[in-house]
Amino acid sequence: MSKTKNIHFDSKCVHAGIDDYEFGPVVPPIYQTSTFKFENAKHGADLFKGEREGYIYSRMGNPTVEAMENAIAKLEDGHKALGCASGMAAISTTFFALLKAGDHVVCSKAVYGPTNTLLNNIVSQLGIEVTFVDASYNDEIKAAIKPNTKVVYIETPGNPTLCVADLETIAKYTHLANALLVVDNTFMSPALQQPLKLGADVVIHSMTKFLNGHADVVAGIIVVNDENTYKHFRKTLNQLGGTIDPFNAFLVHRGIKTLSIRMQRHCENAQVIAEWLEQHPKIEWVKFPGLESHPRYEIGKRQHYGPGGMITFELKGGFDAGETVMNIVKFCQLAVSLGGVETLVQHPASMTHLTMGKEMRAEAGITEGLVRLSVGIENVNDIIKDLEQALEQIEVKEEAHV
Ligand SMILES: *Cc1c(COP(=O)(O)O)cnc(C)c1O
Repeated sequence: MSKTKNIHFDSKCVHAGIDDYEFGPVVPPIYQTSTFKFENAKHGADLFKGEREGYIYSRMGNPTVEAMENAIAKLEDGHKALGCASGMAAISTTFFALLKAGDHVVCSKAVYGPTNTLLNNIVSQLGIEVTFVDASYNDEIKAAIKPNTKVVYIETPGNPTLCVADLETIAKYTHLANALLVVDNTFMSPALQQPLKLGADVVIHSMTKFLNGHADVVAGIIVVNDENTYKHFRKTLNQLGGTIDPFNAFLVHRGIKTLSIRMQRHCENAQVIAEWLEQHPKIEWVKFPGLESHPRYEIGKRQHYGPGGMITFELKGGFDAGETVMNIVKFCQLAVSLGGVETLVQHPASMTHLTMGKEMRAEAGITEGLVRLSVGIENVNDIIKDLEQALEQIEVKEEAHV
């Protein structure tokens, strides 16, 4: 373990969580087993009493899973991590671990859709109150915190509007109220943003996205800062049962070896594309944390090591233009999800947010021509060429005063 103590982040991506194993493999073996043999009755009893270290049953712990958990805890500079079956399993386990009837949650408006649904449905039905705020404004958070607030939940940059929240200030307000700050760090990954260092108490990821990075696993993780919190979360996860399986843990552990170089390329490509889009005549506006036009550009620069690979932009021509572009792009693939090596594009108004209706979309800041691009690590010119030929096909009705 001390091997990874004083090495740089990109080296940690390669070496973190890798231990010495029987026969000397350089990667962790996949312990594809549901259960583990006890040597005798006393051994079993000692394991259950917690008087001896070891494995009992893979929902409660598995060496392949633990290797991956140790790696991600190191990358986030946390105490320990808990591998989950999906990002949503990580999020729901966190709410169950931290909240009970009568408690209050402050949540940013720009969160992953199912997180919003979970809070508005299951969590609210348990007698837990939720207030949604625009987390770009520190004062809105401060005003929303009440004596019974137990959790402030932030995603930054937020989905899909890419608004940026000031984690250091929000952490101060949260701790003054004796509440915990939970940050969904999926869009940045620990290569670009480490919320625990900025004062967060719990960090969550959908590892389905940048951490695994290869669009072949659904998984999540929770990173915590101290042993007591870890034990409490482990107990909660064991009861709820949303644990990750050894093979997926192995794949994620393999994926994070290239996290640092992948994120570097995601950022470089996205910066070039965002700047190109911003001067394109058929684009109304571009939201990208790496553009000076982003309303929280300065906070972003202080808080993250790079702007990430996600871009949101508005097409002149609205809903119809969105559908047209989706039907013409070839190199950029039409799919939800994000953070993989391949470029993905989606149009929320005709896809993920279609059933929400136009009015609700407007309220959530999801305009009709809004396109979300997850920039991959391909050659940037191939991505631009594809977008260019798609933009050529859209019709923009010039308004009278233009
Ligand atoms: C995808 C995503 C989730 C949910 O993760 P799953 O692995 O799909 O369950 C949560 N938060 C963010 C920001 C996401 O992008």
